[in-house]
Amino acid sequence: DGETSGSDTTTITAGTAPGFPPFEMKEGGELVGFDIDLLSAVVTEADGYELGSWQEYAFDSLVPALTSNKIDVVAAGMTINDEREQQIDFTNPYYNADQAIIVRENGDFSPSSLADLSGHKVGSQSGTTGEGVAKELIEKGTLKESNYNTYDSYVFAVQDLENGNIDAVILDLPVAQTFADQRPVSIAFTYETGERYGFGIRNGDDDLQSALNEGLAAVRDSGKYEELRNEWFGG
Ligand code: GLN
Repeated sequence: DGETSGSDTTTITAGTAPGFPPFEMKEGGELVGFDIDLLSAVVTEADGYELGSWQEYAFDSLVPALTSNKIDVVAAGMTINDEREQQIDFTNPYYNADQAIIVRENGDFSPSSLADLSGHKVGSQSGTTGEGVAKELIEKGTLKESNYNTYDSYVFAVQDLENGNIDAVILDLPVAQTFADQRPVSIAFTYETGERYGFGIRNGDDDLQSALNEGLAAVRDSGKYEELRNEWFGG
């Protein structure tokens, strides 16, 4: 846990990986997004805790930062899955997502299934579930390992897609929709994975886990959750 301030309030440090709009991104040097606002609202409702600073990491460094006590909670659109649950714990889920495959909007490549990615260059962000999809394609022989690029941030993957260095990016659907709104890319097709995002915490940090789950419930009950969803996803 973080430091104790005052009589019985623990200050926790949050970690995130900007470049995952609209969950977390940099705007004019400021860290903003749905996860940033949601965690802040949740901790405000969580008994005994207050939010200290936000620390920024590459996505694949968040779990190590958490387990080595550099941060106390991860808010990064992180999918709750078995592999991660061997190392860390999660709060209750706060958002559902599937994967999407995005391409350049000019239509020079328009796949309609994962099999269509064969013979093309594909990218994703290191350590993500999108990378998991790519790795399965490599295992099945659909995708050549030499045709797969990983990036520290989805922002760089999308840039490489725009530049023509790769032909498709595999990423979470809500983030794909945001890039499609902002950049010359479009969603070719979606791939259902039924992912659920949770805030990551250290194994055994049971007090924090209960406090955050109670905070999450309070934020849903008060209408704040709905308000933030409307604000960041346009209703
Ligand atoms: N939800 C995906 C995962 O957990 C991607 C998260 C991200 O890139 N921030 O792997």
